[in-house]
Amino acid sequence: MFYEQILEFKPEIICVFSQVECEKLKKRILKEKKIKYSIKILSDIDGLEYISKVKVDLVVNALTGSIGLIPSLNTIRKKNNLALANKESLVLAGNIIIREAKLNNIKILPIDSEHSAILQALGNNNISDIEKIYLTASGGPFHEYCLDDLKKVKSNDALKHPTWHMGKKISIDSATMINKGFEIIEAHYLFDIDIKNIKVVINKESLIHSMILFKDNSVIAQLSDRDMRIAIQYALTYPCRIKNNFKKINFLENKILNFDDYNKNLLGIKLCIKAMNLGKLAPAALCFANDILVDKFLKNEIRFLDIYKILDFVLDNYFDFDFDDNKEEILIRLDNLKSKIEKLIEEFIETMR
Ligand code: MN
Repeated sequence: MFYEQILEFKPEIICVFSQVECEKLKKRILKEKKIKYSIKILSDIDGLEYISKVKVDLVVNALTGSIGLIPSLNTIRKKNNLALANKESLVLAGNIIIREAKLNNIKILPIDSEHSAILQALGNNNISDIEKIYLTASGGPFHEYCLDDLKKVKSNDALKHPTWHMGKKISIDSATMINKGFEIIEAHYLFDIDIKNIKVVINKESLIHSMILFKDNSVIAQLSDRDMRIAIQYALTYPCRIKNNFKKINFLENKILNFDDYNKNLLGIKLCIKAMNLGKLAPAALCFANDILVDKFLKNEIRFLDIYKILDFVLDNYFDFDFDDNKEEILIRLDNLKSKIEKLIEEFIETMR
């Protein structure tokens, strides 16, 4: 599909992370001779570094996992506006991202549907008038499961999301509800709201994408069909709206104001709140550990509930560094943290065997 996209959009520079895939692509381009202009083809972390430092109108960062942080920072420092789908950037280093964005006078436009909804519901209202943010969740594939049921789930069950079709990492994060926990952190940084004032509610239909309760007890919500293109388009055209042919909500067919309290399984959200309360590098530790554990779960190396168990262990045992807000130093510390967490997880898994 990437090749077809190149033919259609004629990019000047592309980066394919995997060197193997990059070589395959180069060969195909040479063989088929369909590209009539000079195209720069990069790969690996260096390519990503280069491409995130090019001056453009808007950068869409839709990378998966903690690898998205540096490109987000590069984008901001280059004074490029940032349409952000990579929530890990904010979980890892929300303070730095937001401070740098203000310093460089750039906008961060959320692509995550909940945060796009909050941005839209906020409109011209003042952030100081917000009493609560209701972050909606579909509940994921295991909404009705209790802990005993969760013992038996396999990665294939977790990949079957009831309302959204997504990549593997975010599907697992939705199943563990870590995704929703990350979204609390994301909303906290994007809208400067105390995490105590962000409440998760289950809207199984996934038609209400989030709501704001203002201090006068008015609630403003954003509703649309379950189609990520709406949130993506809004980030691309902000603050304008352009016509599209996406599906409209059928208000007669859908029971829209249908809410449920939290899932039976709160572990994912609790871990994220625990990390935020620990502060310092705890959310980053959680984020790095989660990347590793999702990968292991997908390879059937650990069980579903092990994800929580090991994340909790990481939060209790990672070595925190003294926190200085100097950005370069934090990046080095994050790198150290990442390798320490890899070791910590390997050790813990050894003890489980
Ligand atoms: Mn979301």
